[in-house]
Amino acid sequence: MPAACRFCAAPLTTVFADLGMSPIANDYLTPEQANAMEPFYPLRALVCASCFLVQLEDYSRAEALFADDYAYFSSYSTSWLAHSERYVEAMTERFGLSASSKVVELASNDGYLLQYFVARGVPVLGIEPAASVAQAAQLKGVPTVQRFFGVETASDLVGEAAADLLLGNNVLAHVPDLNDFVGGMRVLLKPDGVITMEFPHLMRLIADNQWDTIYHEHFSYLSLVTVQRVFAAHGLRLFDVEELPTHGGSLRIFGCHAASLRSESAAVDALAERERAAGLEDLAVYAAYGQRVVAEKRDILEFLIALKRDGQRIVGYGAPAKGNTLLNYCGIGTDFVEYTCDLNPHKQDHVLPGTHIPIVSPDRLRTDRPDIVFILPWNLKDEIIEQLAFVREWGGRFVARTPDIQLFS
Ligand SMILES: [Zn+2]
Repeated sequence: MPAACRFCAAPLTTVFADLGMSPIANDYLTPEQANAMEPFYPLRALVCASCFLVQLEDYSRAEALFADDYAYFSSYSTSWLAHSERYVEAMTERFGLSASSKVVELASNDGYLLQYFVARGVPVLGIEPAASVAQAAQLKGVPTVQRFFGVETASDLVGEAAADLLLGNNVLAHVPDLNDFVGGMRVLLKPDGVITMEFPHLMRLIADNQWDTIYHEHFSYLSLVTVQRVFAAHGLRLFDVEELPTHGGSLRIFGCHAASLRSESAAVDALAERERAAGLEDLAVYAAYGQRVVAEKRDILEFLIALKRDGQRIVGYGAPAKGNTLLNYCGIGTDFVEYTCDLNPHKQDHVLPGTHIPIVSPDRLRTDRPDIVFILPWNLKDEIIEQLAFVREWGGRFVARTPDIQLFS
């Protein structure tokens, strides 16, 4: 029996992209763990022929994904912090947020964003399931509740934390129970409150071949038209949308209660029309995508093999989830990439899941002087090339997907 769509429950029978068997992308291993068995799960995205939600099949361990040692601290990316600060400025002004407002963030991580509302005197609450980052947020003065979000959590918190602004960045795509999550937002939102959510745009994933953004923590791959359907099913509607450059092309949607008097911006219909023109409501467009993924795997391997045959030493930069998808799907281990560098001390001295490529401090680059630095978080390519400009001192070069894999001198 086929799996059921996590939104509309229709049977899922069409494959969008099959990336084989893969370990959990954020399961960085200690050197001791690297000698034990390691679980691999199917990494296969399907598309619903009824609502066009692209989604991963259910597999065994959703709750464990956000375990206490969850290693991603949002505050380690300087460009992401700057993006968040600009967002806080813009929302404070547009919606007149003040000391009498309440801002609630879902999956508030280490308080990377809410800290800017705190600095402006706007009361906040973070809701974050992972203990390590929730504690880090508390330490920097960002009130945070350590819980998963859904209807039950919203009902418990609505008395003290009904939201004028309810936001979530890169969380909507990550929730296993999409209906419970969006239903919870409806409960927690004040009658005239505003929801903003950012998520990678499925239209960009297809157009720019960003298949490496498919990984187990990322359950849904969202278009505007699909999110409109999901919100409508829960008594919410979208009144504005912005396209952002983050994560290779994201949407920021603005939602409110269906009964709210907020007028709808022309941007919503305009983008929905562009999505339809791009084939996002045509099952054949989704069904054809998988062959592009297979073709690019061959291109990436050919590219790296040519560099190795030329005697080049290749190391990686970054240890993002998308890097783990790429390395595991392409079968790239230390035979191609000797190690990868990451600023996050929680990842250093571990190895990447599956490939077991060691993660080291970026300081290693200066002493080691590799020929090629393969930038795995391609969405941060410009920022990283700037940080690593010193690599050029010894003639080192950079490689990144944009979307085709290429060299940058
Ligand atoms: Zn569906």
